[in-house]
Amino acid sequence: MTTETITRTTCPYCGVGCGVLAKRDASGVVTISGDPDHPANFGKLCSKGLTLGETLGHEQRLLRPMIAGAEASWDEATSLVAQKFSDAVAEHGADSVAFYVSGQMLTEDYYVANKLMKGFIGSANIDTNSRLCMASAVAGHKRAFGADVVPCNYTDLEQADLVVLVGSNLAWCHPILFQRLQAAREQRGTKLVVIDPRKTASAIDADLFLQIAPGSDVALFNGLLRDLYQRGEIDSQFVFASTQGLSDALLAVGDVNVSEATGLTKQELKKFYDLFATHPKTVTAFSMGVNQAVDGTDKVNAIINCHLLTGRIGKQGAGPFSITGQPNAMGGREVGGLANMLAAHMALENPSHRLAVQEFWQSPNIAQKSGLKAVDLFEAVHAGKIKALWIIATNPVVSLPSSSLVEEALRTCPFVVVSDVTGNTETVGFADVLLPAMGWGEKDGTVTNSERRISRQRQFVKPVGNARADWRILCDVAKAMGFAGFNFDTPAEIFAEHVALTQVLDREKRPLNLSHYNDAEYETLLPAQWGSERPFADGRFATESGKANFVATTFNKQQSADNYFTLNTGRIRDQWHTMTRTGLVPKLFNHRAEPYLEISPQDAKQVGLQDAELVRVTGENGQSVVRVLVTPSISNNQVFQAMHWSGAFASHAKVNLSTISIVDPVSGQPALKSAGVKLARFEAAWYGFGISVGKLKPATDYWALRPLHVGSAFECADLKIPDDWSVFISQFVDDENLSSMVSTDKTQFRCVSFKNNLLEFAFFASSNPVEVNRHWLQQLLGAEVNPVQVLAGKPAIGQADIGPIVCACNSVGRNQILNFAKSFAGATLQTVCENTGAGMGCGSCRPEVQKLINDSVGFSVAAE
Ligand code: SF4
Repeated sequence: MTTETITRTTCPYCGVGCGVLAKRDASGVVTISGDPDHPANFGKLCSKGLTLGETLGHEQRLLRPMIAGAEASWDEATSLVAQKFSDAVAEHGADSVAFYVSGQMLTEDYYVANKLMKGFIGSANIDTNSRLCMASAVAGHKRAFGADVVPCNYTDLEQADLVVLVGSNLAWCHPILFQRLQAAREQRGTKLVVIDPRKTASAIDADLFLQIAPGSDVALFNGLLRDLYQRGEIDSQFVFASTQGLSDALLAVGDVNVSEATGLTKQELKKFYDLFATHPKTVTAFSMGVNQAVDGTDKVNAIINCHLLTGRIGKQGAGPFSITGQPNAMGGREVGGLANMLAAHMALENPSHRLAVQEFWQSPNIAQKSGLKAVDLFEAVHAGKIKALWIIATNPVVSLPSSSLVEEALRTCPFVVVSDVTGNTETVGFADVLLPAMGWGEKDGTVTNSERRISRQRQFVKPVGNARADWRILCDVAKAMGFAGFNFDTPAEIFAEHVALTQVLDREKRPLNLSHYNDAEYETLLPAQWGSERPFADGRFATESGKANFVATTFNKQQSADNYFTLNTGRIRDQWHTMTRTGLVPKLFNHRAEPYLEISPQDAKQVGLQDAELVRVTGENGQSVVRVLVTPSISNNQVFQAMHWSGAFASHAKVNLSTISIVDPVSGQPALKSAGVKLARFEAAWYGFGISVGKLKPATDYWALRPLHVGSAFECADLKIPDDWSVFISQFVDDENLSSMVSTDKTQFRCVSFKNNLLEFAFFASSNPVEVNRHWLQQLLGAEVNPVQVLAGKPAIGQADIGPIVCACNSVGRNQILNFAKSFAGATLQTVCENTGAGMGCGSCRPEVQKLINDSVGFSVAAE
C-alpha cells in the first residue's frame, strides 16, 4: 500500500462490539480510533480498544504450521489433521472427535466449523468458550421466549428510567456501554441499582447498591416477583394474552425469607422493590455474575419473570438484557456453534429441523443428539474417550475450571490440533499440530454484538507469515476428509449460505431472519441488527403457543464449607481474557500490574495477611500465589481474583487452578464464581521489584512480569534469602560493560546498573513488600539519571510524585487527582478530569476518579 487508507472494522474484545477506524499511512503505520458512525460506540473506545494498534506486531505470532514441533507445509498439516480425524471416526465413531472453539472466531469461521462437525462428521461435539460466558442466558431465553433472542437494544439503557445491573461490572467489563448509561443518567436522572457481592466500580455512584450474598439472586428476584404480585403491579392484559405459567412461578417462590437469604436488610429490599415497582421503564442488565453459577439459568429466568409480570419487554427502555462477554458470542449462537444447538437457531432435538439442515447442506450425516459441553468435553478427553481434538482461538488450559485436569487431559489425548494467532498460550504447548491463524486486522468477516447488531471485521494489514483464515483452514481439512460442500472462496460466500439457511423451515417461528442481507452488499455492509429492532413488541414469542413462559424457579441455599472462602473470579478494567493480546501493551498494566486477591480487612486480619503481601489460594485441584489487596469493597468470607494471568506473565497466578468443574445442570455453564478456597500467607523471606532494559524472568519462588515501553518490569519474592546478593543479581546483570552501584543493610538490598551512563537495570529487595515509586522508576530506564536518586526509589523532595496510575490513557496518578480534588472546594468529576487529564482518554477510569473525589474529603496526601 502506498497511500493512506481508512478501514472500518470492529473491536475484537468485548461484546459491546465498538466500531473502529484503522488508519494506515503510506509507511504502514496503523492508527486506531473509534468509528463515529458506529451505533454501538459513536466514536468512543475504551482503553483496550484504543491500544489495539500496539498489538499488531509480529512478536509471538505463529508463522507457519508445525507438526510435532517442526515446521511443515500447509498441505502436510492439513492432510495429517484430516487423516487423524478420519481414522478416529472410522475406528471409534463420530463422537470420538471434538472441536473446542471460541467467541473470538468470526461468524463465517464458526459456521464452517459447525457445518463440518454436525453435518459431515456427524457428531455435535463442538463447543465453545462462550459456554463459560453466556450459556445460562441462552438457556434462560429459550425457556422463556422459545428462542435465544436478546430483547433489548443499547438505546434502552439510555431510555430507561431505572437500570438494574445484576452481576455485571459494566464500568470495567463493558466500559463504553457504561459511559452511555452514565451520560443518560446525567441528562435524564436515570436511577441505577447495582446488585453484586462486591462494591465494584459500577457501584461507586449508584443510587442503590445491594451487596448481595453470593448465589442468592434467585431469592432476591423471586421475592421481587412476589412483591410485585402482592402490590398488584401486574400488566394483566400482557400476562393474560402473552404469557403462561404464572401460577407455577408464584408457587415456586415459596415463603423464603429474602432478607435472610440475601443478607440484605428489609429496608434495602423495600427500597429496591419500591424502585422496581414504580419505574415501568426498567432495564435489568446482567452478565457473568448471573450466568456463571450452578443455578445460572434459574437466575436468568427469575429476572425475566419479573419483566413478564410487569409487561416490561418489547418496549422502549424496558427489558431483561444479557450483556455478552465476547465479541462474537452472539454470532456463534446464530450459526449453532454450541454442542446443544443446530445452525440458524434450529433445534438439535427437533427431527424436522435436523432433516431441514441436512437437506440444505446435502450432508451425509447429521448429529442426532447434543454433543459434549465444554466441561464435559474436557472430562471426556481426560477419560480417553476423545481421540482427536481441535482447539481453535482459545486457551482452555488457562480459562477452563480445574486447569490442572485440563492439562492432564491434553497431555494424554492421542491427537491435539491447535489453531491460533499466537504461540504464547499454555494450550499451544500440548499441540501435536499447530496451525497459524490470521489475527485481527488480517481476517475478514462478521461479528454480532450484545444487541444483535452484525458488523464487519475487515482486513487492513497483510497476514503475517503463512497465517490463514480459520474458515479456510477448516474448509481445507473438510475437503481433505473427502467432504463436498466446503468449496468457499470468500467469507462473503459463507455468509450468504448462512443467510440462506435462516430462511428454511418454520420461517415465521424463528426470529433469526437475515433475509434482508444482500450478497452484493457484504463488502460495504453497515452495522445492522437482525430481526426487528424491537423483538416481542407484538406480544408474540417463539414458543409453540406464541406465549412467553414464566419459569418456576426455586431458591436453594448453597452451603459453603466451614473455614473456606468463596472465590469470586472476573475481569479487570484493562486486560482481556488470558492477555495474549492486551499483554503486549505496556500501558494496560499501569492500572493493575500484577495478579491479586481482594479480601476484606477483617478476613485479612483473621488469616494474618497485610496489604501487598503474597497469599496462597488453595482450591480442590491446585494453588495460586497472588498479591494481597485489602479492601472494604468485598464482604467477609469472600475473596476475588482476576481471571487473566497465565504462566506467561506470572509464576502461579492461574485462577482456574483453584476453581472447580461444577456446572449449571441446564446450561452446562461452569460455576466459576463459587469455589471454596483456603488462604495462607506466602511466607516470603524477602520481596523484590526490578526493571530492566532486557527481558527477565527471575528464578524465584514467586514472580510476575510486565512489558514496558523500554524493557520490562518484574515483581518477585522468595522463601529464603540468597546467601550472596551479588550472586543472585548476576542472573540479571551478567555484563562486564555495566557499572553498578549497590546499597544494602539488614533489611534490604538495592542495586542499579548503567551502560554508557544510561540506566540499564534496577533492583530493590526488602524483607517487607517493596515500597518504591514504580511508575517513576519505569520511566527512567534507558535514560541518563543520577544513580543515587534511582537507588532512593522515589523522586527527590520537590519533584512531582504522581502516585499509582489511575488513568492508563493519560498516565494520571492518584496523587494528582487527590491534590486537585483537595485544593478546589466543590471539585466535581468534570473539573477534576478536565484539570488533571484523568478520564479524558477512554473514560474507563472515571468511576475510580469519582471514588477518589468522594474519599478525598478530609484526606491528606502529605500524610499518606
Ligand atoms: Fe472494545 Fe472496549 Fe468497545 Fe469493548 S467497550 S468493544 S473492549 S472498545
